Formats: sequence, structure tokens, C-alpha cells
Amino acid sequence: MAVYQGQELISDYLQIENFENELEQHEIENSVEVDSEEINKEELYKKLIECVNDKSERITINGKTYKRHNFLMVQIKKYRDYKCQFCSTTILKANRGYYIEACHIKPKAEGGKDRLDNILVLCPNCHKLFDYGKRTNQKKLKATYFVTINEKTYKASLK
Ligand SMILES: [Zn+2]
Repeated sequence: MAVYQGQELISDYLQIENFENELEQHEIENSVEVDSEEINKEELYKKLIECVNDKSERITINGKTYKRHNFLMVQIKKYRDYKCQFCSTTILKANRGYYIEACHIKPKAEGGKDRLDNILVLCPNCHKLFDYGKRTNQKKLKATYFVTINEKTYKASLK
């Protein structure tokens, strides 16, 4: 029982941290979207790799400091067209832009890296399916990730 309660606490704590990260990513999206509207995929990819290789914890955008991690997640969402990599859903927001979530294949707590080949862009349903479903047959072949969750197989590009 004690173990179970501990797990619940950890899960709550992670959700608060996730929520704070989501908020920050939302703010970054709003502040960078305008000036990066015309960036093409190739340029975006270059910026992404620069950001992946940058070892600093924080990044300054328009005079405000954010976690580099959150800036990178925003770039990856944009690079993958804000589209769920499992079911292709896009969620258009009434004000502007799209809502989508970034998810680590190997969790950060287990040493998973903030890199394109460890990040999936997923809609909220698929994200929870990934977190709570029964995962089997996970593998990476070249730049493609395959996973079976609750007996259904999904495939996503990690480029
Ligand atoms: Zn989805």
C-alpha cells in the first residue's frame, strides 16, 4: 500500500511539472510564431539540431528566459506540423495555432534525452494511451518508431 501511495505522489508531481511545461511552451509559441512564420522545413531542422546540441539549461527569447527544453519542444511540434503521429489529429485553437503535446519515448527520469529520436508529438488521447496503455514490441528501425499499445500497432517517424 505504501508503495502504491508513493507512486501516486510521483505521478501527481510529474503532472504539475508537465502542466508548467505546457504553459511555458504555450507562451513560447505565442512569442515566436510571428517572427518565424516564413521559416522552411530545412531551416527549422537546422535550428532544431542546434537547439538539441546546445547544452545550456535556459534560452532567452524576446528578452524573456525559458527552459531550453520547452523551446525545443515547441520547435519539434512545429517541425512535425502539430499533427498527432499516431492518429493524424490536429486541434485548431480558436485564437490561433494548434494544440498538441510532446511526449518522451524513454522518460527523462530514466535518462531519456530531449532529442528528435526520443520525442513523439501526440494528441492528448494518444499521449495518455502511450502513458497508461500496455506497451509491447517497441522498436526503432532507422528513423521510424514502432510500438504496439493494447494490441494495436502504431508507427511514427523520428526524423
Ligand atoms: Zn492521436
